[in-house]
Amino acid sequence: MAESYEKLYEQLCEILHKKGTKVNFEMVEKAYNVAKEAHKEQKRVSGMPYVLHPLSVAITVAEMEMDWHSVCAALLHDVVEDTDYTIEDIRDMFGESVAELVDGVTKLDKIQYSDKEEREMENLRKMFLAMAKDIRVIIIKFADRLHNMTTLISMSEEKQREKARETLNIFAPLAHRLGMYKIKWELEDLSLKYIDPIAYYEIVEGISQKRQEREEFIATIKATLRSKLEKLNIDCAIDGRPKHFYSIYRKMFTQNKTLDQIYDLFAVRVITDTVADCYAALGAAHELYIPMPGRFKDYIAMPKPNMYQSLHTTVIGPNGIPFEIQIRTREMHAVAENGIAAHWKYKNGGQADKSMDENLAWVKQLLEMQKDATDEEEFITSLKIDLFTDQVFVFTPKGDVMSFPAGATPIDFAFSIHSAVGCKMQGAKVNGKIVPLDYAMQNGDIVEVITSSAIHGPNLDWLKIVKTSQARNKINQWFKKENREANIIKGREAIEREIKRQSLTGYNLMRTEYMDPLIKRYGFKTYEDMFSAVGFGGMPVNKVISRLKEEYRKDVATDDILPVDTIEIVKSSKKKANNSGIVIEGIDSCLIRYAGCCNPVPGDKIIGYITRGRGVSIHRQDCTNIANAYIDEEEKARLIDVTWEINKDVAFTSHIKIVANDRTGIVLDVTNVIADMKVPLKTINARATKENVAIIEISFEITDTEQLEKIIHKLSSISGVIEVTRSTN
Ligand code: MN
Repeated sequence: MAESYEKLYEQLCEILHKKGTKVNFEMVEKAYNVAKEAHKEQKRVSGMPYVLHPLSVAITVAEMEMDWHSVCAALLHDVVEDTDYTIEDIRDMFGESVAELVDGVTKLDKIQYSDKEEREMENLRKMFLAMAKDIRVIIIKFADRLHNMTTLISMSEEKQREKARETLNIFAPLAHRLGMYKIKWELEDLSLKYIDPIAYYEIVEGISQKRQEREEFIATIKATLRSKLEKLNIDCAIDGRPKHFYSIYRKMFTQNKTLDQIYDLFAVRVITDTVADCYAALGAAHELYIPMPGRFKDYIAMPKPNMYQSLHTTVIGPNGIPFEIQIRTREMHAVAENGIAAHWKYKNGGQADKSMDENLAWVKQLLEMQKDATDEEEFITSLKIDLFTDQVFVFTPKGDVMSFPAGATPIDFAFSIHSAVGCKMQGAKVNGKIVPLDYAMQNGDIVEVITSSAIHGPNLDWLKIVKTSQARNKINQWFKKENREANIIKGREAIEREIKRQSLTGYNLMRTEYMDPLIKRYGFKTYEDMFSAVGFGGMPVNKVISRLKEEYRKDVATDDILPVDTIEIVKSSKKKANNSGIVIEGIDSCLIRYAGCCNPVPGDKIIGYITRGRGVSIHRQDCTNIANAYIDEEEKARLIDVTWEINKDVAFTSHIKIVANDRTGIVLDVTNVIADMKVPLKTINARATKENVAIIEISFEITDTEQLEKIIHKLSSISGVIEVTRSTN
């Protein structure tokens, strides 16, 4: 057994020697010995010595021409996770760079990839990239996964399928995105073997059955192409290969074809020295074979977002069988195989085409750093990637992945689950430990919200901590709702203040006749809803005032002056209007309204005002509006003497304002007085001022002043009441 890994180690050294990159062999050997020693008690599930695994991973990494730090890290990648060695030990022995790589790979192992929904896959892939932080970590992790996939056979069937699905869903798409096609194809083919073994072996057999036929076909084409290109003095390597199984599988699946119906199972690849040779070779190929229309793609002029460059064409070969030709330079080929990994290798070649990566912002950023890197150390730094720095990916306890803006806190997390969770949030656990609420979540954290039914809502300070607008909005919403009482008072006061400011106090704008159309128009259910909206700023005060003024104008002032004797005589179904309780000299029946500004009740000294088109409105003689009318000659002419008609059946609304010391139960005492008097209460509004004074406004229906005076007297005798007044204006 020992031989098998010693041999593998020799192979690793050979690759490193052949590549001729600057390699610290002493360190590589030390890493190998540490790995061998650390894993010496361990076996792979297959029963093989464990160290074969890190060695295989290191070979893949070396083949991709990564630096010796990466090779050492590949050798040591499972040491911290599986043995007694710590990351500090690695740092002491191999330095910061190797230690960071090992740490990065170890952290990536913590991601749970188990079955997720497709929308979560993308987050997982992003999380993977975000956590990797260094392109070399990704490459080591891919090499690790590749070797695990090749040794999957010794796992349970369930485990095999799970790993294969992960590989297909997370690793292969990432490899694709990073342009690492060689690894991508290997991973896909290995996954297919476990996910759909029947189809896999069908394809493998199908291809090998026709192998001879195909090989002859390819050989003819290669020979024909080679002689043509030699004549043109184009140096190139031509290579024919079967397409990888998974892409055939996908074609069979999506196009519903059998293997026999898929012609381009093989592709011929021409690798040239220069871009000019690529186009020359393309011309030659099109001279030899008829190109299929619509199948030519110039990825050299228009590279794929993952930096892939090549010319693709499908032509009609011998016997009318179509096949694909791919033409590219050696360098493009390296990129096609190893993608982003190849780019590091070519960083000194200066060939990195600017147009290569324009579509992929973060790759572009990487290449920018790469171009600027001059010395070895800087180059290493430039390998560090900072993908998705503006995002952080975390897990729910159930393993769902969620993404947040960088710096987001457990509060953001809680509100993104549900506002009910956020509002009941007491604390948070990250990876099983309690954290402060302003903890900035890190990639891969498992976040758990601790809720308590004793919590009655978010804290206002949270608004300063949260990073998502979702959490902010939900907290704001909660406060709006929660502070309803305060907002109602605030809103009402704001309206009253504005009425005062505009010197409109005398017009009793807040009477129901004006308020009702207002709240209806703006879709409020109750006055309180409207006040509350004004209170938290959802409804501008000015809108309220101007609407009330409009209603007032409609009510009081109309255009033409009506002589007394043509006052419209109406019969209203309303009790008040029907039997108004008012006698006007010389008029039997006319439209009577009780002015809302002073709310006269029987017993009050009253006067009538002939409105413009809306009958006679009845005011108290001491009403300020009447006082104003006396000033203007024309207005004065509209005043008319009226008297009460004694009729106990008519009810009048009276408004009372009570000022009292704010004590518990004061409102209850007031309502009790009204109830004792058997007076129907219409509205009640109570508020407290900062000075601890309660202002209670009530309205109720009475029949005369006598009754009203009794009520006022009783209200005045309630303990704590300072003043009881009728609203006179
Ligand atoms: Mn491993």
